[in-house]
Amino acid sequence: MRTLSLCAALALPLWLGLAPATPAHATDVRHDATAVTRVRQAATLGALDVNAPESFEDARRGLIASPSGQVRNVQGQVVWDFDVLRFAQGEAPATVHPGLWRQARLNQTPGLYQVREGIWQLRGFDLANLTLIQGRTGWIVVDPLTTQETAAAALAFARQHLGVQPVSGLVFTHSHVDHFGGALGVLTAQEAKARGVPIVAPAGFMEEATSENVLLGPAMSRRAGFMYGSHLPRDARGVVDNGLGMAVAAGRIGILPPTVLIDQPTQALDIDGVRFVFHNVPGSEAPAEMTFELPDLRAFGAAELVSQTMHNLYTLRGAKVRDALAWSRYIDRAIEHAGRAEVVFLQHGWPVWGRERIDTFMTTQRDTYRYLHDQTVRLLNAGQTPGEIAEAVQLPPALAAQWASRGYYGTVKHNVRAVAQFYLGWFDAHPATLDPLPPVEAARRYVNLAGGADAAMAVARQAYDAGDYRWTAELLRHVLLADGKNAAARSLMAQSLEQLGYAAESAPWRNFYLTGAQELRQGIAPRSTSAPRGALADMLMQTPIPQFLDAMAASLNGPRADDVRLGVALRFSDVGESYGLWIENAVLHHRSGMPLQPPSTTLTLSKPAFLRLINGQATPQELVASGALRIDGDAQALRQLMGLLDKPMRDFPIMTR
Ligand SMILES: [Zn+2]
Repeated sequence: MRTLSLCAALALPLWLGLAPATPAHATDVRHDATAVTRVRQAATLGALDVNAPESFEDARRGLIASPSGQVRNVQGQVVWDFDVLRFAQGEAPATVHPGLWRQARLNQTPGLYQVREGIWQLRGFDLANLTLIQGRTGWIVVDPLTTQETAAAALAFARQHLGVQPVSGLVFTHSHVDHFGGALGVLTAQEAKARGVPIVAPAGFMEEATSENVLLGPAMSRRAGFMYGSHLPRDARGVVDNGLGMAVAAGRIGILPPTVLIDQPTQALDIDGVRFVFHNVPGSEAPAEMTFELPDLRAFGAAELVSQTMHNLYTLRGAKVRDALAWSRYIDRAIEHAGRAEVVFLQHGWPVWGRERIDTFMTTQRDTYRYLHDQTVRLLNAGQTPGEIAEAVQLPPALAAQWASRGYYGTVKHNVRAVAQFYLGWFDAHPATLDPLPPVEAARRYVNLAGGADAAMAVARQAYDAGDYRWTAELLRHVLLADGKNAAARSLMAQSLEQLGYAAESAPWRNFYLTGAQELRQGIAPRSTSAPRGALADMLMQTPIPQFLDAMAASLNGPRADDVRLGVALRFSDVGESYGLWIENAVLHHRSGMPLQPPSTTLTLSKPAFLRLINGQATPQELVASGALRIDGDAQALRQLMGLLDKPMRDFPIMTR
């Protein structure tokens, strides 16, 4: 019986890959910036005061100590490298947008920082910040990073410089993995129980945290590799920054179930003698998220509701779009919640100090999302399509002048498309786009229309020489869809994507362009940098079983399941749950309990054994042989079911067909 490696390609492992320090190939095939790109970068630089001191002062304020060296996992593999991640110094090279280079310089300042009396942050130990708040008996940890290794390293660094204190509270601000995945690096479930350490999270946290990557794992994982530049070298022709922070750590991911849920819009709570006032902001940057006031410390923890960059209304790795209007309204309320604060600290990037600057920061963040929302709606109502709106909308000068509104992560162009998608969806109302020819067929006909691939290439080359890289890429997309093996087209496409990447201010845009170029030149990179096997085991154990069954149903090969009727029961001996699975109308259904009378086959196993089975870490035969799986009834039904499930395609092609 073949292996059912259903979840082997969950989204997380790949986007945790830490980029190598040097190019994978001995000869660097990457090009320098062209003369046209140099002129454009110089013009951009001329329009920006990239050395304006304010942000640099803020990013360094309160520095106690800076780390160096590497963080390793128990196998000795490097999961974080402070030395490799700090290379942005001085003026921007021509291969990096000056704005993005500035952001990289600001983010590449790892250290332990005092935010104010009683509040510290460990920044640059991972993508997000780990915040410590002094309680009566220990530290309250806010957001324990992505991995156990980096969270443990950050806490150890704090203890080294501030003295040893226990963790007396744990707060998860939201359901994204960079804010909870390292929980077990600062606290274990046993410790929390024994010492009564409260674990506090917003309503819906566990459901959202565990579901984010299961159903669409393979697709999001592949796309995330592009967005984070997982296989790109980390240098001035590769990844320079992530926009929110330096990078995402590789390592072991876990989660701790909260013991206190914040389920009211506003809820006060005493944690180890510190007064917190939480505010839920669900459906803003994350589906479950909250901010908090620390009234006695005159501080406001803004989670990721506001950032030192324009955030994503749509994330390019792929996810449901976010609600710009709701997000902006939450920030409007947060301005009141932060009204008495002397400092606003964030879970990415550096804090903002002082009443006037807090007001400016918060209102420009609010108005950035509101402006994108309102102008997109205005233009949709005037009959414009997303592609036209992306060209038309620019932030007004007052917002564009604020560094934190610039698009190092999200961009105006893709965020306005997200607003259009949120309200009107994919269809632009032109009947010719209702049922267009599929991409490859259309591409073949366009290339024919152009007089063949060579003729199309000649036009593309002219466009490239003129610095018209968007048009070059558009033309070559058709040429490569028609014939992905066309070496000249691959090469020129790689060059034009590279120049587009060099000129992009958004780190995800840059990484998409440069990864596309890399794949055209070198093929799809092997997954050598993905997190070690088992990195997600702690996390998957906390994921509800029905989420795996939904993912299983979505891997059923519909055409092959036509006319199939079968039923299998799953009995989980350890967690006391059981499910009936059956195929009807080429759909794999599941229902809790034992709805099948009688089931043709019953599998009895533990949840860890089930996870090993669907992760492809063990075959049914192996589990049966070790006594971890018992099959009662017709083993043929199980065999047939598993034969109907598609294996995930982890490395499907993107650049060609
Ligand atoms: Zn985050």
